[in-house]
Amino acid sequence: MTPRAGWQWRDQTSGSAHQQLVVASDETPTQAAFRCLAEHSTSCPTCMTVNEVGENANLPCETGDRLYEEWRQAHRGPATEQPPASA
Ligand SMILES: [Zn+2]
Repeated sequence: MTPRAGWQWRDQTSGSAHQQLVVASDETPTQAAFRCLAEHSTSCPTCMTVNEVGENANLPCETGDRLYEEWRQAHRGPATEQPPASA
Protein backbone atom coordinates (compact mmCIF):
# COMPACT_ATOMS: atom_id res chain seq x y z
CA MET A 1 0.00 0.00 0.00
CA THR A 2 1.12 3.50 -0.61
CA PRO A 3 1.54 5.67 2.46
CA ARG A 4 -1.26 7.91 3.43
CA ALA A 5 -1.04 11.59 2.81
CA GLY A 6 0.55 12.38 6.13
CA TRP A 7 -2.35 13.15 8.35
CA GLN A 8 -4.76 11.07 10.27
CA TRP A 9 -8.45 11.42 10.39
CA ARG A 10 -9.83 12.32 13.74
CA ASP A 11 -12.24 9.57 14.44
CA GLN A 12 -12.93 10.42 18.04
CA THR A 13 -13.48 13.79 19.57
CA SER A 14 -12.67 12.90 23.14
CA GLY A 15 -10.43 10.63 25.11
CA SER A 16 -6.89 9.55 24.51
CA ALA A 17 -7.67 8.36 20.99
CA HIS A 18 -7.82 11.93 19.81
CA GLN A 19 -5.76 12.28 16.70
CA GLN A 20 -4.32 15.43 15.37
CA LEU A 21 -2.56 16.70 12.34
CA VAL A 22 0.77 15.04 11.82
CA VAL A 23 1.95 16.98 8.81
CA ALA A 24 5.58 17.86 9.12
CA SER A 25 5.30 21.22 7.48
CA ASP A 26 2.69 23.91 7.81
CA GLU A 27 0.66 22.44 5.01
CA THR A 28 -2.99 22.15 5.62
CA PRO A 29 -4.48 18.68 5.18
CA THR A 30 -6.01 19.90 1.96
CA GLN A 31 -2.67 21.12 0.67
CA ALA A 32 -0.95 17.93 1.68
CA ALA A 33 -3.60 15.83 0.01
CA PHE A 34 -3.45 17.93 -3.13
CA ARG A 35 0.32 17.66 -3.23
CA CYS A 36 0.14 13.88 -2.95
CA LEU A 37 -2.44 13.78 -5.70
CA ALA A 38 -0.40 16.08 -7.91
CA GLU A 39 2.78 14.14 -7.32
CA HIS A 40 1.03 10.92 -8.16
CA SER A 41 -0.68 12.22 -11.25
CA THR A 42 2.61 13.51 -12.63
CA SER A 43 4.53 10.33 -11.97
CA CYS A 44 2.03 7.51 -12.40
CA PRO A 45 2.19 5.91 -15.86
CA THR A 46 -1.47 5.00 -15.64
CA CYS A 47 -2.65 8.46 -14.69
CA MET A 48 -0.39 10.08 -17.29
CA THR A 49 -1.67 7.97 -20.16
CA VAL A 50 -3.17 10.07 -22.90
CA ASN A 51 -5.43 9.04 -25.73
CA GLU A 52 -4.84 9.49 -29.44
CA VAL A 53 -5.76 13.16 -29.34
CA GLY A 54 -3.54 13.94 -26.40
CA GLU A 55 -6.21 14.11 -23.76
CA ASN A 56 -5.90 12.33 -20.50
CA ALA A 57 -7.26 8.86 -21.02
CA ASN A 58 -8.62 8.75 -17.47
CA LEU A 59 -7.54 5.20 -17.04
CA PRO A 60 -8.75 3.68 -13.82
CA CYS A 61 -6.06 3.91 -11.18
CA GLU A 62 -6.78 2.66 -7.71
CA THR A 63 -4.13 4.83 -6.11
CA GLY A 64 -5.12 7.88 -8.09
CA ASP A 65 -8.74 7.40 -7.20
CA ARG A 66 -7.90 7.06 -3.54
CA LEU A 67 -5.68 10.11 -3.50
CA TYR A 68 -8.34 12.10 -5.29
CA GLU A 69 -10.93 10.96 -2.80
CA GLU A 70 -8.67 11.87 0.10
CA TRP A 71 -8.10 15.29 -1.37
CA ARG A 72 -11.77 15.77 -1.97
CA GLN A 73 -12.59 14.79 1.58
CA ALA A 74 -9.83 16.99 2.97
CA HIS A 75 -11.11 19.84 0.87
CA ARG A 76 -14.70 19.41 1.90
CA GLY A 77 -14.19 18.02 5.35
CA PRO A 78 -15.30 14.64 6.62
CA ALA A 79 -18.46 13.53 4.95
CA THR A 80 -20.78 14.21 7.82
CA GLU A 81 -23.11 16.57 6.07
CA GLN A 82 -24.12 14.57 3.09
CA PRO A 83 -25.54 11.10 3.46
CA PRO A 84 -24.23 8.67 0.87
CA ALA A 85 -26.37 8.67 -2.19
CA SER A 86 -27.88 5.35 -2.98
CA ALA A 87 -27.28 4.27 -6.51
ZN1 LIG B 1 -2.18 6.58 -10.94
